[in-house]
Amino acid sequence: MTTTIKKTIVTLAASIALILAMFVCIGFTTANADSECEHRYEQTEVAPTCTKAGYTMYLCVDCGNTYTEQTEAAKGHSYEIVIVPNTCTHKGYTTHFCTTCGYEYSDNYNDEMGHDYEEKEVEPTCTERGYTEHTCTICNDVFSDNYTDALGHAYEAEITEPDCLNGGYTTYTCSVCDDSYIADYTEPNGHTYTEIVNAATCVTYGYTEHICNDCGERSVTDYIAPKGHKYLDVIVTANPDSLGYTRHICVNCNYSYLSDFVTSGDSGYIKEPEAPVVPEIHQHAYEIHTMDDKENMNLIVMRVCNCGDTKSGYINVTFTDDKGIATESKVAGNKIDYSEMFGKVVITLADENGEQLKTVVVTTKERPAEPTEPDMPVIPDEPKQPDEPKQPDEPTTPAEPEQPNDPKADEPTPTTPDEPNSDVTNTKKGGNGVAVTLFVILIVLALGGGAGFVLYKKIKAKKQK
Ligand SMILES: [Zn+2]
Ligand SMILES: [Zn+2]
Ligand SMILES: [Zn+2]
Ligand SMILES: [Zn+2]
Ligand SMILES: [Zn+2]
Ligand SMILES: [Zn+2]
Ligand SMILES: [Zn+2]
Repeated sequence: MTTTIKKTIVTLAASIALILAMFVCIGFTTANADSECEHRYEQTEVAPTCTKAGYTMYLCVDCGNTYTEQTEAAKGHSYEIVIVPNTCTHKGYTTHFCTTCGYEYSDNYNDEMGHDYEEKEVEPTCTERGYTEHTCTICNDVFSDNYTDALGHAYEAEITEPDCLNGGYTTYTCSVCDDSYIADYTEPNGHTYTEIVNAATCVTYGYTEHICNDCGERSVTDYIAPKGHKYLDVIVTANPDSLGYTRHICVNCNYSYLSDFVTSGDSGYIKEPEAPVVPEIHQHAYEIHTMDDKENMNLIVMRVCNCGDTKSGYINVTFTDDKGIATESKVAGNKIDYSEMFGKVVITLADENGEQLKTVVVTTKERPAEPTEPDMPVIPDEPKQPDEPKQPDEPTTPAEPEQPNDPKADEPTPTTPDEPNSDVTNTKKGGNGVAVTLFVILIVLALGGGAGFVLYKKIKAKKQK
């Protein structure tokens, strides 16, 4: 390369010198035109190109005479070929590019192919238009046409009813695309309570229950304290054979307990029986007991057996007032209401068969002043107690004559079976028991019963084998 540059510089310098020399020569040759020049040539090498041959140029340094001599032929282009294929939208061709000199040309043209579209129908939806989509299978070029309108939603309504606490509403759901929304809200119904009044008993609270008819929601209010037992005292006198005691029996619920045990006046020692006592089958023996509940103007009547059992059924009641006028009625339950009567009243109690059981005198409110027949002698004894101020409480229902003239009324009313242990003391007739403490008899009975039970089990077991 450096040699080439040097050569070029030399060639340039030589050219300038040649031009100067030519001017000198012109001056001289006018005088000496035909004079022979002994040429002194300098040679310059020119390389061949793609299209031109290489040569050597000779230049005389004295007279500028020149001539050339070809050295090499033109080399010709050295092409690289690039084939550009045709597409949907562009022609294809082949490009020839000379890597030496940059000359290029193209040929082998072929036409563009044009798109090859496939069509696809897109159906309209609730919210989107329908259309035809055209897609080129070669270059994926896409366009759409044939638009149709969106269908719109097809909503179906589902109503949710309100309940006590939650409001209602309507859910609209599209049957095609499941799009949904909620509207048409309604207010909650609120609770609709039914009230159940539970009365207090002797030992349990009374209260009012509020229960919703629709959802069962429950609340309790208006507690009433237990009334407490109201006792009627039944004194069972002692025998040589049996203890005496006081039974306190509640007139409202029949609960009872015993107290004040006494013996019949002997040493109190009760001899142990020789043989285990076989408990007799107990026949209830009811005795009538009364208690005047002045506060409520009730005569409480109970027929109580020594075992604590009470007899139900009705009682024939005859009220005889201070004028000697008798009123008869049948009373079920154990409360005989005399609040409708005046003055001193004789209450005669009889059982279902009409057999008189007891007569009780009660004093009720004073008869209102009215022109009465004079000289009705007031019974002198028992100075009248001043009547306690009484609330005119519950208007008393007249004692319902429930089964009037029922011929079967004579039948003894069914009674609850005896509790075996509460029956140890025998009826007044007395048994063959000797003086033993109640406690010892209880134990003996329990042991005897236990042994019997075990024996029975064993026999049963053997039989099963
Ligand atoms: Zn020359
Ligand atoms: Zn070339
Ligand atoms: Zn295409
Ligand atoms: Zn829809
Ligand atoms: Zn409710
Ligand atoms: Zn009670
Ligand atoms: Zn009994």
